[in-house]
Amino acid sequence: DPVLRLTGIEKVYNPGAPNEVHVLRGADLTLVRGEVVAMVAPSGAGKSTLLHIAGLLDKPDAGRVEIGGEDVGALPDRRRTAIRRGALGFVYQFHHLLPEFSALENITLPQLANGTPRRQAEERAMALLGSVGVAERAHHRPAALSGGEQQRVAFCRAMANSPRVLLADEPTGNLDPETSDRVFDALMRLVRDTGLSALIATHNLELAARMDRRVRLESGRLVAID
Ligand code: ADP
Ligand code: ADP
Repeated sequence: DPVLRLTGIEKVYNPGAPNEVHVLRGADLTLVRGEVVAMVAPSGAGKSTLLHIAGLLDKPDAGRVEIGGEDVGALPDRRRTAIRRGALGFVYQFHHLLPEFSALENITLPQLANGTPRRQAEERAMALLGSVGVAERAHHRPAALSGGEQQRVAFCRAMANSPRVLLADEPTGNLDPETSDRVFDALMRLVRDTGLSALIATHNLELAARMDRRVRLESGRLVAID
């Protein structure tokens, strides 16, 4: 029961120009329900490009992106945006929280934008914050939180609208090793508790070893490792 399927994904930047870069060359990936896959790749290999395509932030030059069995390439932009906001959650190396809003508000706002009533959105935000151990920081702005706490809040925001797939680009890459380990545990608990599927790019082989499966992005294709 694949929740995300990428087939024959091609991506070329600056086609025909002297600085042409053929980043993806037939990348394939199938993510089934509840599966957590690590994507390991050196910098510049194209993992951000692949995550942007899987996350409907960018379109491939060729190939097929299916989410929940639906071929999203054929859909109008408005429908793609709706899928991005509803079915997908994003986490980056830096938290990208809104600085003027509290942790709680940062998790509530995407739910309000999706039509959830305020009271219900706040209850869900508090439950999420509690599940990653930062409930007592709910009313602090991001600048008042530690790096690890900021990332935990960012995970909660990614989960706010109950996505089916989490896409994460070096989610703990900005943290010291010990914090990274604990914050990663919190992320994995959150993912497991919600039965979410996740594609997580990381340089950290110890973290990759704790996921269900590992793939390497190599010469523009995804290759199973182990
Ligand atoms: P990674 O996330 O693995 O570091 P990226 O997907 O960011 O890799 O980039 C892969 C390659 O594509 C790099 O050589 C990068 O410079 C190039 N690239 C990425 N985005 C663009 C863009 N918008 N325009 C031109 N080249 C790009
Ligand atoms: P990351 O640190 O996640 O690998 P990058 O530094 O590769 O991210 O890219 C950050 C953003 O900059 C991406 O959205 C990508 O589209 C853009 N980008 C990356 N490389 C280039 C490039 N050579 N030319 C233009 N845009 C680029």
